[in-house]
Amino acid sequence: MKEISRIAAAVQASTTLKVDALFKQMKADGLDVVGFGAGEPDFDTPDNIKEVAYNAIRDGQTKYTPSNGTLELREAVAKRLFADCNVQYSSNQIVVASGAKHSIYIALQTLINPGDEVLLPAPYWVTYEEAIKMSGGVPVIINAPESQDFKITSQQLENAVTDKTKLFILNNPSNPTGMLYSETELKALADVCVAHDLYILSDEIYYKLLYDGKTFTSMAALGEEIKARTILVNGVSKSYAMTGWRIGYTASDAKIAEVMSNYLSHSTSSPSTISQIAAVEALNGPQEGIDAMRDVFEQRRNYITERVNSIDGISCRIPEGAFYIMINIEKLIGRTLGGKIINNSDDFSLAFLESGLVAVVSCTGFGCDNFVRLTYAASMESIKEGLDRLETFVK
Ligand code: PMP
Ligand code: GLU
Repeated sequence: MKEISRIAAAVQASTTLKVDALFKQMKADGLDVVGFGAGEPDFDTPDNIKEVAYNAIRDGQTKYTPSNGTLELREAVAKRLFADCNVQYSSNQIVVASGAKHSIYIALQTLINPGDEVLLPAPYWVTYEEAIKMSGGVPVIINAPESQDFKITSQQLENAVTDKTKLFILNNPSNPTGMLYSETELKALADVCVAHDLYILSDEIYYKLLYDGKTFTSMAALGEEIKARTILVNGVSKSYAMTGWRIGYTASDAKIAEVMSNYLSHSTSSPSTISQIAAVEALNGPQEGIDAMRDVFEQRRNYITERVNSIDGISCRIPEGAFYIMINIEKLIGRTLGGKIINNSDDFSLAFLESGLVAVVSCTGFGCDNFVRLTYAASMESIKEGLDRLETFVK
């Protein structure tokens, strides 16, 4: 048989979704397993949003929409971005896709020519690297060590630029590190992008989940020059507990938005109509529920980081946003845990799942070894139980 696409054959399965599938299978098999794997809010979608979706189905709002999303939803996105991020976009600059992951994929397909270099700080969310490769681009990794709070400096960004660099990807606040770039740090990165005429894909999907009273600055709010080059990514999955509805969106230059829309018209046709109607309610409806969820995440973050840092041999930084922590397991390397020698974080996560019955994600898929990621988008009861098991496992 003839060879299949080389680009497709090289794609690695999502490690986060792989852990999630394994966790769910173990649970279905009757095992008492605790899941800190895939990051999705454990809260249910708020009732007002669900109600609007039921009504939409009953009213027969079940047909195709424009490929870039309904005007109503694009207007709601623009309004919400203005209210929350102080950035002004018109509806023709907004493109709705089937989840923020899909928005990122389409943005990369739109921007990248084969061989273009894309700058990506590590630790990074696993999908970016694969999506860059799927677009024919070349990921260029910039290491952000724990000693720098997992953040790159503008000098590091500058040093990584070549005449092939097309795009810089930044996720702020970050999955998997939970770290947040300050406005000053963002401005320094933005200056490098403007000086070298780079596009910037700014994934701000966790922007509502900030702790310790921190406030959010959008990359696109830092001035017209950077805004013109920014493809701002956001969506309803994390902020409104709507992961399964699959609605994400971008805000960008109108020409880029038009090309993305053309691309979508030949791939998905349009995102789910029902989900778009639900997303309008999420964005335009009451926002208090979101603050309540944020408060719960903050309590869990405090609990989980305190307990991890009280366990001998492991440690973690205190994240400022999102719902992940990265545990440093360097001191456990070479030890035998759960009957297995731990040579790296893959060994640790496998041994912990098999004999500790807790699912965590090895950070090798995020471009960094000797760390595992835990999500605290899990009930307090699960968090307590999982940490008891962690304590026993590493003893
Ligand atoms: N960006 C980041 C940083 C994420 O963690 C996720 C979570 N899956 C996404 C994008 C994609 O979100 P969605 O569920 O909207 O595709
Ligand atoms: N973003 C979440 C995570 O990193 C969900 C899984 C995924 O889409 O990768 O765990």
